[in-house]
Amino acid sequence: MAEYDYDLFVVGAGSGGVRASRVASQLGARVAIAEMDRAGGTCVNVGCIPKKLFVYGSHFAYDLEDARGYGWSTESSFDWATLRANKDREIKRLNGIYETLLEGAGVDLLKGRARLLDAHTVEIEGTQRTAERVLIATGGRAVEPDIRGSEHALTSDAMFTLDELPERALVVGAGYIALELGSVLCALGVHVTLVHRGDEILRGFDHDLRGHLHNELEAKGMHILLETRVEELRKTGSSFEARLSNGEVLATDLPMFAIGREPNVEGLGLEDIGVELGRHGGIVVDDNFTSSVPSVYAVGDVTDHIQLTPVAIAEGMHFAHHFYGQGDHRVDYMSIPTAVFCQPELATVGLTEAEAWHRCQDVRVYKSAFTPLKLSLSERSEHTIVKVVVDAANDRVVGCHMAGHGAAEIIQGLAIAMKAGATKAHFDATIGLHPSSAEEFVSL
Ligand code: FAD
Ligand code: NDP
Repeated sequence: MAEYDYDLFVVGAGSGGVRASRVASQLGARVAIAEMDRAGGTCVNVGCIPKKLFVYGSHFAYDLEDARGYGWSTESSFDWATLRANKDREIKRLNGIYETLLEGAGVDLLKGRARLLDAHTVEIEGTQRTAERVLIATGGRAVEPDIRGSEHALTSDAMFTLDELPERALVVGAGYIALELGSVLCALGVHVTLVHRGDEILRGFDHDLRGHLHNELEAKGMHILLETRVEELRKTGSSFEARLSNGEVLATDLPMFAIGREPNVEGLGLEDIGVELGRHGGIVVDDNFTSSVPSVYAVGDVTDHIQLTPVAIAEGMHFAHHFYGQGDHRVDYMSIPTAVFCQPELATVGLTEAEAWHRCQDVRVYKSAFTPLKLSLSERSEHTIVKVVVDAANDRVVGCHMAGHGAAEIIQGLAIAMKAGATKAHFDATIGLHPSSAEEFVSL
């Protein structure tokens, strides 16, 4: 067998790459990982974590409003610079933790941009390393719009380094990022206009929740334009003008496009060594994450499959155990719970009602919309919706959906129940936890 510098060389120290390299090393492999930016990848630096900190930070606007109904009077003001600086400090701390974790697991961290020279050789900043296996875990990046003036378009990355809050923001898209960051800006008092090409926000989610959330976001002051596109962006002094397909010209201080993310494959040399890429540039892999070149593998966003941190982590884990350990760690892609941390937040697991009708012969649907108890003493109006979708043939719960305070925390628990095969009869036989919003799920 050829002598390699390492058993495994991982490109990209994000969610998937870090997990794969740590586990492989702990299982006895000699592992190196290359990272061209900060350890932790998208999730830690410009994704899940800073986003959720901004969600928490902005939600105080509503909490303070609610507090008044409970007898609190507070003089409050908001300082963006403080939130940003505290967020930056926390992210820096996490970057250090990721590096320490790698070091502790015995993984060599090599700083710099990596590219493949052949099926076993990686070049990083002029030096070459060889490995029996090379795992690509380079994640993705925001898609840039193909319009006149696209050089003025910002992506979600810009949100995390904003020096000051804009007065007006134009958010393009109506998926996860557009709604989450649009909600943050809206709660912080920015005039947000959301421009979406489709006929309703959040394609792919249950139709009742889509409509519900649309109304709730508008009630919070978000201006939503459907079936509309941005055709051109122009800079006008310190702000911008967007020409829309409906003929309107919209002035804005922050034109942010959140129109999907594409695999990070540029400059890796993959095509030169024969690695097959899919329609959107994602690395095509089999069930064990092997690409068309047998010694090259890929996990996470770069495969253009499901772009979620826990999925990238589970794939990294499966890869490491499959090649360096034992036991079946196969990723179960069915019923992955997911949340959109807009305000109110939406969380879901399993099939939408439409998907269930497609797959099951008969479907039963249970739903309820209500004002959460907490808001009964508040002047603020916000409604919660919960929905359960059942396969009528066997009473199995095939989908749980919620939009409202605490939705993500509640749906995570229901995902376990669904994985265990819970039926509607199990839900009905479960005593409610009173008073809570979660109890609605067992009293439908
Ligand atoms: P990444 O985490 O992106 O890591 C890839 C790493 O590779 C990066 O560090 C990059 O610098 C490095 N790299 C790239 N090319 C090279 C090279 N040539 N050489 C060396 N290094 C290289 N998911 C959730 O589950 N929940 C959320 O709440 C959530 N919120 C999000 C919010 C935003 C704004 C965004 C953008 C994403 C969010 N996601 C969320 C998605 C999540 O961040 C990704 O699915 C996840 O980070 C993918 O992990 P990965 O390992 O595939 O890639
Ligand atoms: P999404 O796929 O969620 O949404 C993209 C949005 O942009 C859709 O509304 C889509 O419309 C629209 N769109 C796509 N192409 C164009 C175009 N050319 N012009 C105008 N509009 C367009 O992508 P995001 O960028 O919001 O997020 C990327 C991924 O990151 C998510 O899919 C998710 O996997 C992950 N993520 C997860 C989060 C979480 O778990 N909470 C948070 C943030 C990101 P249409 O519906 O018509 O296709």
